[in-house]
Amino acid sequence: MLEHIYTNILGNTDILFQKYHKWFENKTEKEEDLELFILLQEDLFSDMIFEKGSTTGDYMLRNGKHLTFETELSIDEQYFRFIVEHVAKYDAYTDVNSRKIVVDIEHINNKPTILHEMLHAHEFILQKRKPLLKEIVLLELYKDLKPKLSQRNIDIDTWIFNHANIPHNEELAVAGGEHDLLFFLKSIDLDIRCGFELLTVFGYDYTRNFKELGLL
Ligand SMILES: [Zn+2]
Repeated sequence: MLEHIYTNILGNTDILFQKYHKWFENKTEKEEDLELFILLQEDLFSDMIFEKGSTTGDYMLRNGKHLTFETELSIDEQYFRFIVEHVAKYDAYTDVNSRKIVVDIEHINNKPTILHEMLHAHEFILQKRKPLLKEIVLLELYKDLKPKLSQRNIDIDTWIFNHANIPHNEELAVAGGEHDLLFFLKSIDLDIRCGFELLTVFGYDYTRNFKELGLL
C-alpha cells in the first residue's frame, strides 16, 4: 500500500504538481480570470463528476450504491493549468498529457470554445481514472437526450449515425483530438443547458454541416 502511494505521488503526479504550482504562482490576471470562469462552469459537468442529483449520480443510487468522487474527478483536482496566449492556428486547445487548457487571447470570453476544451479535459479525467464510469455517462446522456431531441423533431440515432460517418471525422481527430460519441452527446447537452444553437459547442462547422444534410 505504501509503495503504491509513493509510486503515485513521486511519479507522474509529482511533475504535474510542480508544473501546476509554478503556473499558480506566476499566472497572469487574464489567466486568473480564465481559471475562475472555468471553475464556475464545472456545474455543467456534474454528470461527468458523478455528483449527487445529476443523471449519473441517480444511476449510482438506483443500483444500491452511494458513490461520489467529488475529490477526484473535477478539473481543479487534476492539476490542470489554464493558459492565455496568442494561438496561431486554433481558438483554443487542450493538451491533456501536460494538463493544460490554452485559450487564444481573442477568445477568452468565448464560452462555447471554453466549454469544448473543458469537455476534452473531463473526458480525459474519466478515461484515466474511471473508464467504466465514462461509458455510464454515455448511456445516461443518450437516455436523457433522446426525448429532449425528439421534442425538437430530431432523431438522436440519425444524428449519431451521421456523426460516426461524417467524412472529415478522421481529419478532425488529427487536428483536435478525440471527438467520440460521448464528446458529441455531451456537447449537445451543453448546448441545451446554455441555450446555444445545437452543435455550437461541438464546433467544426457541424451546425452548417447538419443543416446542409437537412438534419437541423
Ligand atoms: Zn476538440
